[in-house]
Amino acid sequence: MRRKILDKVSAATTYSKIITLLFFFSIGFLLLFAFLFYFIFNQEKKFHTHATAQYNNEVKALFNLNSEAYTSVISDITYWDEFVSFIHTRNLNWFNTSIANFIDAYKVDYIASYDLEGNFITKVSTSKIVTPKFIPQAVFKELYNKKFLKFYLKIPEGIVEVYGATVHPSSDPFKNKTKPSGYFFMVRLLDSNYFTNLEKISSSEIAFFDPKNFNDKDLSKTAIEYNLNDFSGQKIGSLLIERKINVDFETTKWLLFVAFFFFGITIVVYLYYAKKWSLKPLNLIKEILKTSSSGAIRELKHVKGEFYDIANLFEDNIYQKKQLEIAKKRAEESDLLKTSFLTNLSHEIRTPMNAIIGFTELLKNDQLPSAEKEEYMKVIHDSGDNLVSIIDDLVEMSKIDTNLIKPNFRSTDLDALMESVFQANKISIPQDKELEYKLINSSVKLIKRIIIDDVKFSEIVTNLIENAIKFTKKGFVIITYDVNLISKTITVTVKDSGVGIPKEFHQSIFKRFNRVENDFAIEVGGLGLGLSIANAYVELLGGKMHIQSEENVGSTFSFTVPFDFDTEYDKLMEGMKDLPERDDDDIVLIAEDDNINFMLFEKLMKNQKFRIIRANNGAEAVKAVTENPSIDLVLMDIKMPIMDGYEATVEIKKLRPDLPVIAQTAYSSSEEIEKIKESGFNGYIAKPIDKTKLFNLIASILS
Ligand code: ADP
Repeated sequence: MRRKILDKVSAATTYSKIITLLFFFSIGFLLLFAFLFYFIFNQEKKFHTHATAQYNNEVKALFNLNSEAYTSVISDITYWDEFVSFIHTRNLNWFNTSIANFIDAYKVDYIASYDLEGNFITKVSTSKIVTPKFIPQAVFKELYNKKFLKFYLKIPEGIVEVYGATVHPSSDPFKNKTKPSGYFFMVRLLDSNYFTNLEKISSSEIAFFDPKNFNDKDLSKTAIEYNLNDFSGQKIGSLLIERKINVDFETTKWLLFVAFFFFGITIVVYLYYAKKWSLKPLNLIKEILKTSSSGAIRELKHVKGEFYDIANLFEDNIYQKKQLEIAKKRAEESDLLKTSFLTNLSHEIRTPMNAIIGFTELLKNDQLPSAEKEEYMKVIHDSGDNLVSIIDDLVEMSKIDTNLIKPNFRSTDLDALMESVFQANKISIPQDKELEYKLINSSVKLIKRIIIDDVKFSEIVTNLIENAIKFTKKGFVIITYDVNLISKTITVTVKDSGVGIPKEFHQSIFKRFNRVENDFAIEVGGLGLGLSIANAYVELLGGKMHIQSEENVGSTFSFTVPFDFDTEYDKLMEGMKDLPERDDDDIVLIAEDDNINFMLFEKLMKNQKFRIIRANNGAEAVKAVTENPSIDLVLMDIKMPIMDGYEATVEIKKLRPDLPVIAQTAYSSSEEIEKIKESGFNGYIAKPIDKTKLFNLIASILS
């Protein structure tokens, strides 16, 4: 049970907790208000009861006091011998001189005298009372016995207060020895005059009692009904005497009402802000956690305060989450790729390795015909080449990953470069492939040399051509290059009519280890690194690579890279000389281990009518110079097997110090140039070979 309650409490939202707390607070306050109201009403009632009782006494005392003067006057003048004889003689003169002035002296409205039989003798009155005689006969009998009476009477002018006394001789002041001689009455009309006096003395309001105007629930006043009785004790009317109670409970009640009202407003305001400051942001936080909505984050920022920081944290968090998701996806992708790469790699390495091992084994047979021997050795050589190219690709990729590859911009003749790349790849087309292989030169002719990274540029083009040849069984491979002089960009396009690439692979084909896993791709092999290396090079040179391809129709790969014009070259060319006149049978020794490079040199030199001798390494070069004293010039590659270019040149210079030797090198670091000079070379030319530069160099050396 307890557990259930705890669960319920912990499941409640913060807002509902705040509201519950507020509810209990409100209940507490309402109880407090109710108690205060009850207490004040009670106090007021008690006070009212007490005040009314006291007032009652006061009013009684007041009326007694009020009548005391008249009581004493009337009793004083009614034991008077002259009064007795007046009743007998009815000498009005005496009455008018001795008694009539009482009207003014005691502020009464009517005085009258009657004989013992109740016969009217005389009266004096103010203008307020015009009725001459109104004392009922029954009064006399009562008065005869009681000697003094105070009562109220209703007469046409209103209600009057009547003081009546029997008249006795002066020897009987207590009126108990003699019989009454007659009666004397003093009368006051209960009018505004009468009330004003009493009101002044008592600080009250006095009026005839009218039940319609009477409100005994009004606790702000004490009110007393004072009965007016006739001589026989019968009530003929009453007075309402009221006095305001000075203790003001109303203000206190009002204050409580105001406090209650403000309490109500406070609750409403509190509810509004609790919703705005807690419910709304907490709901937004809930929404963000559920949906990561950026709109909700923006709204949360508007709440300000710590919610602004929370919104920022959410933003960071969501960003990091996205990055993590991307990284995870990449890791998964790369995991998959690695698996496929390893499978491919093992296949790609195993195939040439098996060939090498297998054919080496076959070569052990001494009886093998020399033609077969040669064929096996070619297979072994090709397989070795294959392995080297796989390793080269892997090394290159890791260099790209570690940012070790930097562009190496050099002055280049674009037409020559494209021609040499075109030619270099031509020999890799298998004899039996029916391929139209064509280079379309740029329609815009460059009259100046340009600055690009020629090595990377030719590697990119080579890669695209190799792929085009590899994936086209028959049809065409057409290479086009175009120069845009305005944007200073070169666009190279390699178009083939090969197997093509399905659309879904177009995006991923540039990623490393990605291949189209179809039978043909498996048959021709490859690690899926070529395009990603080429693409990385294009980006390194500040360009972009594009693909257009349709399965079984063909593919078009193109890339655009920026270039600059070489302004230095023009100056250089000015001082160049033409080749001097020479014999047609000048002999040049070309020391070059690479077949393609050799073919290139061979073509160039043949065009210049040189006769050519080839050496495949440094040792062969030294041998050739020893055996052929008619050699006029040596073109020496630096990196060669068995004996490198430096060593060979040193040896050659020992044999024929005047024989010009030109170094041809792919590397042109300052240390290397230094080493070339030290080894006795007469000049050097960088690869890829610039025709004009080479011939200028030869011209200057031979002259
Ligand atoms: P590989 O060294 O394996 O050829 P690449 O990165 O050069 O790797 O090429 C990746 C894949 O792209 C190839 O395996 C092949 O499926 C596809 N491909 C590349 N060039 C072409 C092309 N010209 N025609 C058809 N498919 C191609």
